[in-house]
Amino acid sequence: MKLAKLLGCLLALGALTARAQSPVAAPAAPPAPTATLLRPAAVFDGQDLHPGWAVLVADGKIVAAGPAAQLGAPARARVLELPGLTLLPGLIEGHSHLLLHPYNETPWDDQVLKEPLALRVARATVHAQRTLLAGFTTARDLGTEGAGYADVGLKRAIDEGIIPGPRLLVATRALVATGSYGPRLAAVDDLPQGAQEADGVDGIIKAVREQIGGGADVVKVYADYRWGPGGTAAPTFSQEELTLIVQTARSTGRGVVAHASTAEGMRRAVLAGVETIEHGDAGTPEVFRLMKQRGVALCPTVAATDAISQYRGWKRGQGPAPERVLAKHRAVAAAVQAGVALAIGGDVGVFPHGDNARELELLVNDYGLAPQQVLRAATAGNAQIFHLADRGRIAPGLLADLVAVAGDPTRQVEALRQVRLVMKGGVLYQQP
Ligand SMILES: [Zn+2]
Repeated sequence: MKLAKLLGCLLALGALTARAQSPVAAPAAPPAPTATLLRPAAVFDGQDLHPGWAVLVADGKIVAAGPAAQLGAPARARVLELPGLTLLPGLIEGHSHLLLHPYNETPWDDQVLKEPLALRVARATVHAQRTLLAGFTTARDLGTEGAGYADVGLKRAIDEGIIPGPRLLVATRALVATGSYGPRLAAVDDLPQGAQEADGVDGIIKAVREQIGGGADVVKVYADYRWGPGGTAAPTFSQEELTLIVQTARSTGRGVVAHASTAEGMRRAVLAGVETIEHGDAGTPEVFRLMKQRGVALCPTVAATDAISQYRGWKRGQGPAPERVLAKHRAVAAAVQAGVALAIGGDVGVFPHGDNARELELLVNDYGLAPQQVLRAATAGNAQIFHLADRGRIAPGLLADLVAVAGDPTRQVEALRQVRLVMKGGVLYQQP
């Protein structure tokens, strides 16, 4: 573990300990600050960069943001001078799997089949902390991959302050059509699967309700997968089944996200009314036009494609890019061309948690998006797509989920690696 990371962990621990101890502080102790004034070099508010702005925080929320000269510190406020830093809304990870760790460490099949649940949860607590300290104060976690409802317990442990981590939107087990998912080992019946199998009207309604009852904030469905002999990606659920999944979830106020990489799987999911398509590798201009019409966002997960290609032997910058990388480039270009909104999420877990910024870096450096465009998408954009009206921007009344990085991330995406301060709900988990 790098020294900086270790220090970050200790600081996070300190933040928690301080909070846990505060109720028993001696009565003679000086009163705690009632507010915090943050004075960075500039503020990125989720839309634009404002040099010379400051932000006032109290009771876990943003009270004011504006030119520093106009923002006085109230009595007893703590003032944090942050020279050279840009303050931005806490980043929102759009696609993670906290219960997974990189496949080049342990293949996915072995994680699902051989790792005890307690081991997976123990790892996940560390993953949650790394995610937070990387500046991602919210994460949409899209499936436990065989770890049942462990994400719901993880979320509760974070919310109760037992472990540091991002605010979570969880999908629990995720839904797959029978026979379409993994692990698949020849001639083994009743093998535990990485998601819940469900089919037909009764089966689907029951499974969606079970997951919601178990704590799902969003329902994830695999609209296609590499299945059958040869493992060719093909649609799984019928149009009727997908529509029923969306209707059942929506009647409880929850949205559905679809894993889909074939054009037909994407098309069915979009027609069913899902809110985001994950991956989208073989999306055609027609499908992306349909997504634009229906207001469905694409979460391209370019970092996972990049990582898997490297695990299979591709050396970046050496030799031609593999077909799956080229396909991803075509898909992202077609989606942008059609005006489809991009959700930002890397499928973290395929590659290390805490390395979440990889998705943003690749979108800028390999896919040609502007740093500011990607930064907007990973803050205000993700918040809008995920219906999180209380975060994603720096504005009065929103949650005090804030991150400060060295440099200007609206010009240099690499600045996102230089996290110096992490605040969630007004609590500091890391500070200069
Ligand atoms: Zn995923």
